[in-house]
Amino acid sequence: MDSSLQQRRGGLVSLSPSQTPRSSDKSVRDLRSGDSNSSSKHEKDKGVNVQVILRCRPLSEDEARIHTPVVITCNENRREVCAVQNIANKQIDRTFLFDKVFGPSSQQKELFDLAVSPIVNEVLEGYNCTIFAYGQTGTGKTYTMEGGARKKNGEFPSDAGVIPRSVKQIFDILEAQNAEYSMKVTFLELYNEEITDLLAPEETSKFIVDDKTKKPIALMEDGKGGVFVRGLEEEIVTTANEIYKILERGSAKRRTAETLLNKQSSRSHSIFSITIHIKECTPEGEEMIKCGKLNLVDLAGSENISRSGAREGRAREAGEINKSLLTLGRVINALVEHSGHVPYRDSKLTRLLRDSLGGKTKTCIIATISPSVHCLEETLSTLDYAHRAKNIKNKPEINQKMMKSAVIKDLYSEIDRLKQGS
Ligand code: ADP
Repeated sequence: MDSSLQQRRGGLVSLSPSQTPRSSDKSVRDLRSGDSNSSSKHEKDKGVNVQVILRCRPLSEDEARIHTPVVITCNENRREVCAVQNIANKQIDRTFLFDKVFGPSSQQKELFDLAVSPIVNEVLEGYNCTIFAYGQTGTGKTYTMEGGARKKNGEFPSDAGVIPRSVKQIFDILEAQNAEYSMKVTFLELYNEEITDLLAPEETSKFIVDDKTKKPIALMEDGKGGVFVRGLEEEIVTTANEIYKILERGSAKRRTAETLLNKQSSRSHSIFSITIHIKECTPEGEEMIKCGKLNLVDLAGSENISRSGAREGRAREAGEINKSLLTLGRVINALVEHSGHVPYRDSKLTRLLRDSLGGKTKTCIIATISPSVHCLEETLSTLDYAHRAKNIKNKPEINQKMMKSAVIKDLYSEIDRLKQGS
């Protein structure tokens, strides 16, 4: 399978982020098909709500052994989650409705097939899509996004999460379509308002180990209203296996940092992005390039929001880590309440993901919770947060297709520009 995919790739160029097709480009031509055109026009006018999916993990073995009381019930058919606790002086009984609900016995495949697979199809149609995992540390964000590691023999495990399953679906579809395409991935971590490239080669790794070796990479304006991360490693990938290896490498780096830095990952955000360019031919035989992007975001533990204000002692670190999470909450509130100013610029996370929050990207949030009584306070705050986020409206738009000849011309001028700059 790998070699055949490799052969099919021949001849297709890869674009830099600055070359993502834009309607203002002269070279862009809108060739959207009748159906998708009308549906996207409809969506564009009315706006589309951010999809919010709720997943409750099972009790862990330890929790089950000591008979930890369960206070959450999930009704998947009614898409409801209930939090009930009755103690003499404290009675809680709240019900929340979501777009989809997955209870403690839900399997990875089920969540992927019902909630994520349609999103992956939209990426291949030419949309940009973002999936966020939000929730308290230990509730299954990483399990849901990454899941179990590959088996030694490369076999696909049943507990594989959203990212490997999305990758598999993308390659399966492109292969079935005999498509000519190119694909690249990036993987970054945002910790303490500083960006680390999880794919940077070891010797130049921008790892935050201590203040002396720390080499954060910069977020730059692209001059077109967006931002890009300067020098972020973009790996061209040709097979699903390559992406799995990249993921393992990036995740291992995150874990190393975690031991060095005392549980960094629960306070950091990671963004794994896949950009796909697919060649298509018009009935007139003209070669066009279609582009779609999938961002998979594993957010810092939501408990960091509540902690941030409280602990002035660990000031800089705690405060700054949470700046992105706090700002994300403020952006969501501003969008939901339609208040004029949306504070995107107040954190790197919201600058990076601006288009996913009220923009042209299709967005889905997977909120994860624990069923345990001990997490109830945090669970209620996650349920409230996720429920509020349901009201955000985006205006998804298909990326416009570009003529292949124009893409190549653009690439040459980009190379010239870079040569002159160096
Ligand atoms: P987080 O990323 O939110 O901190 P993890 O993904 O590390 O949480 O999950 C914490 C633990 O719970 C892990 O051992 C994980 O395997 C387990 N777990 C989480 N969600 C599920 C689930 N839906 N089914 C089975 N085990 C789960």
